[in-house]
Amino acid sequence: MCEFCHKHGEGKKWYLEAKNYAADLLSDVKRQEFIRGFMSPSDDLSEAPGKLEQLHKAPALIQSTIRRTATAKAKKEHFGQVLPIEDVAEIFDFVNSIVRIPCICRYATLGERARYCYSITLDATAKKWAELFGDIDASYLYGPDMSAHEQLTKEQALQAFAEHEKEGLCHSVWTFVTPFIGGLCNCDRVDCMAMQATVNHGMKMMFRAEYVAAVDKDACSGCRACMRMCQFGALGFSAATRKAAVDQRACYGCGVCRAACAKKAIALRPRREVAAVADLW
Ligand code: SF4
Ligand code: SF4
Repeated sequence: MCEFCHKHGEGKKWYLEAKNYAADLLSDVKRQEFIRGFMSPSDDLSEAPGKLEQLHKAPALIQSTIRRTATAKAKKEHFGQVLPIEDVAEIFDFVNSIVRIPCICRYATLGERARYCYSITLDATAKKWAELFGDIDASYLYGPDMSAHEQLTKEQALQAFAEHEKEGLCHSVWTFVTPFIGGLCNCDRVDCMAMQATVNHGMKMMFRAEYVAAVDKDACSGCRACMRMCQFGALGFSAATRKAAVDQRACYGCGVCRAACAKKAIALRPRREVAAVADLW
């Protein structure tokens, strides 16, 4: 179990605890200010990828200090965790509002209103979210021919996540002033700044999933379709056996590779049961 499971989930998966989505947490004025600031994209955000690249030019001690400080701040404010689609489905079972919105990362990196993010809440009317967005400078939320807030049923939302998975996108869950959870996203290494920071630059902004993947060698046909799906480069291929294999230290446990496997040869195992990576987050 990750650090947040112990702190905010009483030893269970913290993102499956309904209390972490509670409307009264969203009523907190400081949290509302944070969310309003977060949803108002600034020039700073579009400069973030360049700043991350610059980090590697700093002396090693400064690099590690910056990484440690940034991660500590993110854990308090806006931190994520990878999760598989079956856990997304469990979340959809108990929240009562799912609203699809454009992804702020992609707006910063691409300048496009790509709708890969989902705000989720136990506030049945989503009124509090709507009030938050009411007067902020967030023109990116408004596409030319779609309303900003696209309310989805649970079935529609789960279908959308299955389609994102076929695109090879990794699902993630996010806090807005921890432990309040306000959103799910669908990420890749090219456009998601948090994933880039975590995987490319060693600045942790998200935990790995509570799972790790394994390939059943007897079932694997060696087609390599799974390798194209993995955002983390965690799937290798043996020329000798003509089988795929998971590098468990590289695997984030998203489960997206399963969507590509016609032989159903890939399964997720609980991370805690795999000694080599049980404490690797
Ligand atoms: S997609 Fe499935 S069958 Fe194909 S290489 Fe990967 S694990 Fe093996
Ligand atoms: S190998 Fe691991 S990280 Fe890569 S797609 Fe599969 S579950 Fe995700």
